Amino acid sequence: MSPTSVPCPACATSDRTVPVSVAVLGGDTPLDPAVRAQLDVPREPKSLSPGSTVLFVLAGLQLLPLLMVLGGIGDPDPTVRNFSLIATLLVLALGIGFATAGRLVLNAARARRRAQGGWPLSYDQWTLVHKVWRAAWLCRACQVAFFPAWSLRPDFPASPALQLPHFQDWLTETSKQIDLAGGLATTAP
Ligand SMILES: [Zn+2]
Repeated sequence: MSPTSVPCPACATSDRTVPVSVAVLGGDTPLDPAVRAQLDVPREPKSLSPGSTVLFVLAGLQLLPLLMVLGGIGDPDPTVRNFSLIATLLVLALGIGFATAGRLVLNAARARRRAQGGWPLSYDQWTLVHKVWRAAWLCRACQVAFFPAWSLRPDFPASPALQLPHFQDWLTETSKQIDLAGGLATTAP
């Protein structure tokens, strides 16, 4: 559980500090739209590779015909049996082919993104960014954001007061460091 009041690293008071998530998602005092945009929750990454998604869907679509032709394998008529066996192998090959192609396309997209320095690369990493975002606090008086010492990892010190225009960059960089350090290990004070 988060404590209800956390002192701001700039003014050292907790009169007007509030978790960023509370400030952005509602709260009693709505944020200025420009401030809200700077503090907004990181967007879930768009599919890295729409092509791979299509291929995975095509692979999944082979399931229904597979179930249909599988039923014929037990048929007493040898013609139906043989046809079903061949059809099953064909549908299986098609499904595996689509899935393999999807995997290759996705890996290529990730390699491209990594080469460009893009982050997060995966849904897990985005989930981590989101958790880090939830740990951030805002001081409404100073208009700065900060991470309290206990909020991320026991071995991560409190952050300095962060100017809001740099908040999203901080979020990404902090999440990268936490990812490298082995993920979040939040402990209450
Ligand atoms: Zn302050």
